[in-house]
Amino acid sequence: MKRYQLYLGVGVASLWLVTGLFSVVGYAGTVMPEGGAQPLVRIAIKQNASVGEISIRGTYEVSDPVTGEVLGSGRRMPRVQLVPVRDGIQLGNDFYGRERIRITTRKDITVYGTKNDKRYRENMDIVRNADGNLLLINQVNLEDYIRGVLYHEVSHRWPMEALKTQAVAARTYAMYRKKIRKHKEFDVTNDTFSQVYGGRSAERYRTNLAVKKTRGEILSFNGEVLSAYYHSTCGGVTLSSNDVWQEEILIPLRGAKCNYCYNSPHYKWKRNFHLQDIQEKLNAEGYQAGTIKDIRVDKRTKEGLVQILKITGRNGEVVKVSGKEFRGILGPNLIKSSRYRIKMKGYYCDIIGRGWGHGVGMCQWGTRGMAKQRYNYKTILNYYYPGAKIVRLENL
Ligand SMILES: [Zn+2]
Repeated sequence: MKRYQLYLGVGVASLWLVTGLFSVVGYAGTVMPEGGAQPLVRIAIKQNASVGEISIRGTYEVSDPVTGEVLGSGRRMPRVQLVPVRDGIQLGNDFYGRERIRITTRKDITVYGTKNDKRYRENMDIVRNADGNLLLINQVNLEDYIRGVLYHEVSHRWPMEALKTQAVAARTYAMYRKKIRKHKEFDVTNDTFSQVYGGRSAERYRTNLAVKKTRGEILSFNGEVLSAYYHSTCGGVTLSSNDVWQEEILIPLRGAKCNYCYNSPHYKWKRNFHLQDIQEKLNAEGYQAGTIKDIRVDKRTKEGLVQILKITGRNGEVVKVSGKEFRGILGPNLIKSSRYRIKMKGYYCDIIGRGWGHGVGMCQWGTRGMAKQRYNYKTILNYYYPGAKIVRLENL
């Protein structure tokens, strides 16, 4: 019965058929070798910093990542300052006359932050940029990276099948980033611009278990790693990457109806704004908005996203702002998506919307809803990325 309901929701020919096609290709139950055989993910932990502070637990080695030359070692390192200097890098009392050094540890490296401190596994590259600032890049095995991502992306209390779904999506996205950023300094950042990564500090028993149970599994389409985008809450329908980012149409990312995220706190939202506040924020960004009389949506995309807003002043002046910029100026966490309408209320306006995030690919709250209805992670992934296959990394 549930399968039938799902069929109605997604509008595919037959879920039985799709589920049948959606087999785990090449899965032979073999365990991926530990250590070096795994791909490494390069995560930017700190960018453009003028100073940093770190400490190291356990024995460590400092090396030149280009030549492999060992430059120093120790049993542990207490909290020290990390400063880019004229001819190299100063790490506590030690000076390294290089633009790049690598710290390797068997335990972990703590990077102290303004808000919180985080522990990272394996390697940390410390780079002095051309402009004299610091760049910290953590390099970890793919599976360790996913373990550090999962806790931040979903609650570790969510059903196991939802956690497994997230593990496969996050692993796929990391591999996609590795492919497109091959010649760049790093693959991902540690924030919402890629996937939120908390290092070893973010690991929990259940999220680690979900990573282990899906070890090495990623999504592919047409023999290539899928750009497996995901977002918090779609609000009823996921969007196509074509509509949101004008990417070429890709079957798994063309959007699907979602009847499973209505329990999300972001399913529907409403925010009240003072018009004067909006005016000041716009003007601070270089717009010439007068006293605002009216704000309306001037243009939407095919799928209903706000594309252009028209803001009219009391003296008839008109300012046009792109939806993307407007959301950025008012705050992407206040205007949670680009699917909203505006209701004018004198000196105020209400912005009433649906969903949180860009809306493309997998809806995280939807995976929770599906898992609660006892769908397994393969069915859930196929629902949000129709036509994609789960393959073992080594078989791609
Ligand atoms: Zn949804």
